[in-house]
Amino acid sequence: MMKFHILTLFPKMVQQGLATSILGRAAEKNLISIDAVNIRDYTQDKHGKVDDYTYGGGAGMLMQAQPVYDAYRSVAGEKKIRCVYLTPQGAPFTQKKARELSGEEELVLLCGHYEGIDERVLEEVVTDYISIGDYVLTGGELAAMVVVDAVARLVPGVLNNDESAETESFHNDLLEYPQYSRPEEWHGKKVPEVLLSGNHKKINAWRLEQSERRTEERRPDLYAKYQEKQKVIKKLSAKKRIFIHMMETLSRGLGEILYAEGKNVLIYLPE
Ligand code: SAM
Repeated sequence: MMKFHILTLFPKMVQQGLATSILGRAAEKNLISIDAVNIRDYTQDKHGKVDDYTYGGGAGMLMQAQPVYDAYRSVAGEKKIRCVYLTPQGAPFTQKKARELSGEEELVLLCGHYEGIDERVLEEVVTDYISIGDYVLTGGELAAMVVVDAVARLVPGVLNNDESAETESFHNDLLEYPQYSRPEEWHGKKVPEVLLSGNHKKINAWRLEQSERRTEERRPDLYAKYQEKQKVIKKLSAKKRIFIHMMETLSRGLGEILYAEGKNVLIYLPE
C-alpha cells in the first residue's frame, strides 16, 4: 500500500477531490491511503493563527514554520519521509517524476497558501520542490491533487489494465495515438480502416506512426528527444548482441541518454 499524507489548511478540499472514481476505489481496496492533515491543528497560537507578516516587508502573509513542522512530525515521527513541497519555484512535474515517486512507500505533500511558507521549515523537511506549471495558484492543494493522482495511478493494481500506463502519453517520449470507440461511423467520420482489420502488427505500426506525427506537431520538444533516442538505438543495433539490454531499456522508455556524441554513448539504466 502506498500512503499519501497531505499537509494543508484545507483538508476537505483534497479529501473530496481525491475520494471518487479510480482513486476512491483504490483506497477502498487498500492499494493506497490518502490522509489530509490540517496544519492549523498543530499551531501553538492560542487564536489558531498559522500565518504572519513577512520580515523585510512586502505584500501578504506567510505560513509560519512551527505549525508546518509539527504537522510534518505528526506524520513522520522521528523518521524522515520524502516530502514534496508544491511550489511555482519547483521543478516542472513530469510523468518521469510521477514514476519515480510511485516507488515510495510513503509520501508527504506540503501545500502552501498566501505568500508561501517560512523558508526555514522548508529547509528542514522538504526533499523535492515540484511545480505543476508556470503559473501561480492560490494554494498548493490543486497541485498536490495533481501529483497524487498521477502517482497513485502508477501504483500496481490501481489501474485495472496495467498495460495502459505502458502505452499512454509520455511513455517513451511520445504522445498517445488517436483512439476510437463505437460506432464505426459518427458525424460522417469513419474509424480508420486499419483498426478494424484485426491485424495487430499493422495496428501497432499505424499507432506508432500516428504517435510520432502527433508528437512532432504538438510537442516538437518531446519529438526532438524521441528522435535523439532513436538515433542512439540505431547506433547500438550495430552490436545488437552486446547492447540488447540497453536497447530494450531505452525503447521501453525506462533508460535515459545522458550523453551521446560520436561513438560515445552514456546511458542511465535504472535497476
Ligand atoms: N509567493 C510565492 C512565489 O512567488 O513563489 C507564491 C505563493 S502561491 C500564491 C501560494 C501557494 O500555492 C504556494 O505556496 C504553493 O504551495 C502553491 N502554488 C502556487 N502555484 C503553484 C504551482 N504552479 N505549482 C505548485 N504549487 C503552486
